Amino acid sequence: MTVQHLDRDIVIVGAGFAGVYQLHKLRAQGFSVVLLEAGSGLGGIWHWNCYPGARVDSHVPVYEFSDPDLWRDWYWDERFPDWRALRRYFAYLDQKWDLSRDIRFDTRVTGATWDEMSATWEVATATGDALRCRFMVVCTGFASKPHIPDFQGLSEFRGISTHTARWPQEGIDMTDLRVGIIGTGASGVQVTQEAAKIAASVTVFQRTPIMALAMQQRPLTREQQDAAKADYPALFQRRTETFAGFDIVRNDHGAFEVDDDERHAGFERMWQAGGFTFWAGNYSDIMIDETANRTAYDFWRGKVHERVHDPAVAEILAPSEPPHPFGVKRPSLEQTYYDAFNQANIVVIDLQAAPIERITPAGVRTTATNYEFDLIVLATGFDAVTGGLTSIDFAGSGGRRLKDSWADGVHTHLGLASAGFPNLIYLYGPQSPSGFCNGPTCAEVQGGWVVQLLTDLRDRGVIRIEATREAEQAWGEQVTMISQMTLFPKADSWYMGANIPGKKRELLNYPGGIPLYAEQCRNSAANDYSGFDLSCAPATPSGDSDRDRSESRLADASTPRASHLHPRPERP
Ligand code: FAD
Repeated sequence: MTVQHLDRDIVIVGAGFAGVYQLHKLRAQGFSVVLLEAGSGLGGIWHWNCYPGARVDSHVPVYEFSDPDLWRDWYWDERFPDWRALRRYFAYLDQKWDLSRDIRFDTRVTGATWDEMSATWEVATATGDALRCRFMVVCTGFASKPHIPDFQGLSEFRGISTHTARWPQEGIDMTDLRVGIIGTGASGVQVTQEAAKIAASVTVFQRTPIMALAMQQRPLTREQQDAAKADYPALFQRRTETFAGFDIVRNDHGAFEVDDDERHAGFERMWQAGGFTFWAGNYSDIMIDETANRTAYDFWRGKVHERVHDPAVAEILAPSEPPHPFGVKRPSLEQTYYDAFNQANIVVIDLQAAPIERITPAGVRTTATNYEFDLIVLATGFDAVTGGLTSIDFAGSGGRRLKDSWADGVHTHLGLASAGFPNLIYLYGPQSPSGFCNGPTCAEVQGGWVVQLLTDLRDRGVIRIEATREAEQAWGEQVTMISQMTLFPKADSWYMGANIPGKKRELLNYPGGIPLYAEQCRNSAANDYSGFDLSCAPATPSGDSDRDRSESRLADASTPRASHLHPRPERP
């Protein structure tokens, strides 16, 4: 084996919830670790998404870590905190977990090359650093690559234009500006609410109506939180037992197991509970049966029409025929979004009727009208789930690129690793619960499993782990099989990769829920990490090709699992 100096045992990429959890836990296990972060501060998406109104859709304390050492002395001001509060929380984490000493900020990872001879990764950064490590744990999240559609003329716009996730850190004062907002996803809704309060005019360009739910925001006092803290351990346990990692339990009954009045009363209770209750806690068949789903849609539509005075505007925002089933695109939460459309300074433009033709130096031209703006907000979403990973030029075994490997769709085992990319683990990524799961829950559930994996490997002298193609295939089949039982494929959503031209249309998140997901991770670990090849020695040069690897796996399949481990070499 070529002995090479290791800069660190493990390089982590990304300082959001997933990355800082890894840093804290892996250091505690005695690993030498460094975390590389493209941004200048902690927080992941909360560093980048500092646009007016940016706030969580997960309520607290669900949207925080479960460590009592943290929550005992931490207090929020609101049930749904904004980006500033989240940054304060990350500053608090930094203080409690002493994170920054092992983080290199402003350091974007550009590529990483697998060296089979030494079983290490050589990591390259935009700042010119090169680091060698045994394992990479990539925590780039599902929303770190903003997507801007190919609008003709955008660079010629004379005003300010910005994607919501690249909002200038120093802010933009929207007071008295003429603001155009393109996109009505979660960020579009949040910016619209704020712009409507202060801008001279707000023009919202809508391609597909968002089915936004009532946030039911409320302030939180210290006394309320102190009283609730006795239940926190049980709550944090509960959130690992629900489908989406919340403390919201799906209703046991189907929508038609109750009569019309009771169903309506049930919807109303969920609505008043606020947050994602109307989505994650709805009747059991809402996401699998179109007729049941339609009852939820109609209830939601009624709520919008009660608030928007002009019936023609209400019809654009909440049409009588649903553009897709309710909940198969990520709903967002709103506070004053629908009321804003009663104001004189705001209009919604239906892009289905008149699409955007181009950006002009003065604003936006649709097929029907020219609009003039001082500020264009591109609330156009992300190359979600895979974009953060494929933006890094990973060259795995035999030089194969991750991006090429996923050109025909993603291939993963447990949504954590891919064949051909040894010792590369990614979190909150494709075919994991990711977009369907509350962020901090996933950071702990998936993250805890990864920490255990890396610790076990070290303790057993395993220096190389690689997902098998058979396991990838089986996992992909499971994702497809479950997704076909749901209504998710019926919408052109980022969940389906459908917002990015050329991206394969497939469900990018694991749709079986957290408990089933975690069970399968545990089963793999209990069965000597089934679905992975483990090795105590680097592969021989001749064992490097795909063909040789699959032969070695065939041999492994008929060999007792323990003998599948090569003799333990000296650790570098
Ligand atoms: P992230 O928070 O996305 O962090 C990834 C980090 O990786 C970033 O800091 C990024 O700079 C860094 N990075 C990426 N590429 C590189 C590279 N090449 N080199 C170095 N660093 C890199 N989820 C919820 O559960 N509830 C919510 O209410 C919620 N609200 C959201 C609101 C917005 C506006 C957005 C965009 C997302 C929201 N999410 C929400 C999803 C959110 O992604 C997760 O909650 C959580 O932040 C995921 O944490 P993470 O650590 O996996 O990734």
